[in-house]
Amino acid sequence: MNIVQSMDKYAVVTDTYFDGEKHHTSGPYTVVVEKGSITGIVKCDFSDDMIKKGISVKKTKFLMPGLVEAHSHLFLDGGQLDFTARNEYLNASGEEMLTVARANIAANLAAGVTLVVDAGDRYGVNHDIRLESGSVTVRSAGWALRRPGRYGSFMAREVGNRDEIAAAVREIGKDADDLKVILTGIIDFKAGLVKGEPQFDAEELRFIVTMARELGLRTFVHCSGLAGLAAAVAAGVDSIEHGFFMNRDILKAMADQGIAWVPTFSPVYFQWQRPEIAGWDVTTVAHLRRIIDAHFEHVAMAADLGVPLVAGSDAGSNGVRHGEALIDELDCFSWAGLPMEAVLRSATSLPRTRWGVDAAMLAVGQVADFITLAGSPFDDARYLHQVTVVCNRSTISSFPRGRMDEPASQNKIAVGQ
Ligand SMILES: [Zn+2]
Repeated sequence: MNIVQSMDKYAVVTDTYFDGEKHHTSGPYTVVVEKGSITGIVKCDFSDDMIKKGISVKKTKFLMPGLVEAHSHLFLDGGQLDFTARNEYLNASGEEMLTVARANIAANLAAGVTLVVDAGDRYGVNHDIRLESGSVTVRSAGWALRRPGRYGSFMAREVGNRDEIAAAVREIGKDADDLKVILTGIIDFKAGLVKGEPQFDAEELRFIVTMARELGLRTFVHCSGLAGLAAAVAAGVDSIEHGFFMNRDILKAMADQGIAWVPTFSPVYFQWQRPEIAGWDVTTVAHLRRIIDAHFEHVAMAADLGVPLVAGSDAGSNGVRHGEALIDELDCFSWAGLPMEAVLRSATSLPRTRWGVDAAMLAVGQVADFITLAGSPFDDARYLHQVTVVCNRSTISSFPRGRMDEPASQNKIAVGQ
């Protein structure tokens, strides 16, 4: 259980911190928060002075901005592994779904996530939970767009010709924060590829992207397989989600155009880790392994080429638990070879600045939106799994025992085997 406090003025003393861009190592530092904003960061431990003045002080080894989960489905429980129960749940009441979404928000908070993007929900739970989520801010895409009869029924509405597309974008744009497009199907794990043509061609997709921009919405696009990736790049979308079966040419074009990539390792990784759940045979498991290995290589290549890499887990998918899955994505970025500063940027300043929301840097004048960890992830990446306090404006949520996961280990998903 977490302890929630509300404080007008407080201070945090830390050994080291990551400000959203850079790692600061010559502490201790005292960070002062007043009325929800950071009013001072000084290179000294002022806790005695603060305590004498009656100001509450928290001591920690490491401080960093609150994390961003760039791709999740808040109405779905990723921990529900039974396919029949998952299907039946799609007929649950709105209140029941909202209860699940509340638990998912709590799980995000416990993992240090303070900003979540919901990537599509036909039931409107994402819009509803956005209104009540407290220390965790939700960006909601509402309904996504898909072609009639194609993949995405649980999260997308069907659109046919351009008039229908235009009407749908206008309608969704009234209350969505971002526009989600289902461009391709999902991966056929048995065949080890993405089946079927993209749902929209490059010209139609460009029409959607242009219209969305006019309405002030970024487009993030569910897309795997080369045909879809080529269309997404040609249309100049803002972000490619999943992006399995990537290649170097697509990555170069993404880097040139500043298109972000949210590689969502988690749902495919889970299929590989627990093949018995879906009943995958040896051939399918080999496909999964090959797909994951290629994904690691392409993420490393993306980092080299300067593609903006953003962390998102697709939480809510089978086996992908809200909160902890985002940290698993950060582990995957580490294992792909990204330096820790780049790993942390992918879930803090980078998505926040791209989306034009509060940067939430650890700097004077910024909103107080930060987390403390039991130790520095620059010493050991496993500390990312041990969030101890989440400070959001004047609200402080403490997790006294930390959230102890099984320690992340590269063996969990041995790279290149
Ligand atoms: Zn998704």
